[in-house]
Amino acid sequence: MAKLLPRLEYYHRPRTIEGAKKLLRQGKRTTMILGGGVSLGMIPRKQITDVIATEKLNLDYFIAGEELIQLGAGLSLGSAARQLEPHDDGAARLIMEAISRTATTPLRNLMTIGGVLAGVGPWSDLPVALLALHTTLVIDGDQKIELERFLLEGPAKVLSRSGLVTEVQVQRTGEISGSFMKFGRNTTDLAMASAAVSRRHSPGYDAEIRVAVGGLVARPKRLADVEEFFLSERQGEVDRSSLLDLVSKTVTPRPDPRAEKEYRLNLVTQLIADCWEDLLEEGQR
Ligand SMILES: Cc1cc2nc3c(=O)[nH]c(=O)nc-3n(C[C@H](O)[C@H](O)[C@H](O)COP(=O)(O)OP(=O)(O)OC[C@H]3O[C@@H](n4cnc5c(N)ncnc54)[C@H](O)[C@@H]3O)c2cc1C
Repeated sequence: MAKLLPRLEYYHRPRTIEGAKKLLRQGKRTTMILGGGVSLGMIPRKQITDVIATEKLNLDYFIAGEELIQLGAGLSLGSAARQLEPHDDGAARLIMEAISRTATTPLRNLMTIGGVLAGVGPWSDLPVALLALHTTLVIDGDQKIELERFLLEGPAKVLSRSGLVTEVQVQRTGEISGSFMKFGRNTTDLAMASAAVSRRHSPGYDAEIRVAVGGLVARPKRLADVEEFFLSERQGEVDRSSLLDLVSKTVTPRPDPRAEKEYRLNLVTQLIADCWEDLLEEGQR
């Protein structure tokens, strides 16, 4: 810890959300909320003097109800995956797929749901899958924000108004099928591109399709035009060339030293199309 946070003076372990919020309000610009602490291996935190740890807040719970999966912000990704395993529905499977492609087992056992969402970036895997589902974040225990809005506004802006991510809620009603795919230089590399596609049938409603991508832009992004494209195609093989045109019009990739923009646009297009074909195959089984 001394090397990762060289100026650390106070390590607070509040036992209530109210207590954590009070500390945050009193805090300085050099105060940091700590989930699993894995981001410290990526982003230098040399100025941090105060840490507010989430470990005593009792946020490491998992609740799978009929309509919602509730993941406490302090739950590790590893623990979430283990508790999701017996739940054989599309939402649970999509979340598990994204977690299984995140980093390594030891890191997954440290990374928390709250930390992965508050620390979201181009590298994020789970938020891509959650964006392809209906996901809501609970902030400070009592305020709700759609994940899509949270990502559009940016965690720094949203959390500066309030404070802590306390829970993630994922809807599981209707018949959901989903697929997540990621490409990196090796199995534990950060995503050069990733994609998640979900389809939901609810009795009495048209099918709903959601498409999200990661790796190319600052934060995971939902592609409404691609969703429309799939709604009109519905069945059969994807016209990958038309899909590439569409994706290229909607996504402007940030630079990545690992590959050119054109290559990554092509890559994400193939991942989206593969996810879609995966869904169609699942529907035929
Ligand atoms: C070696 C390595 C490999 C990685 N590989 C992957 C990968 O394959 N896929 C992937 O998606 N990511 C990967 N990551 C990134 C990792 O998911 C993020 O760093 C994530 O933020 C870590 O979660 P954490 O719980 O450890 O967060 P922390 O490091 O504790 O915190 C991250 C940020 O979130 C804030 N925060 C934490 N909890 C809360 C909360 N409850 N409310 C509000 N703010 C909070 C912190 O203040 C901090 O700003 C990797 C990181 C490393 C170092």
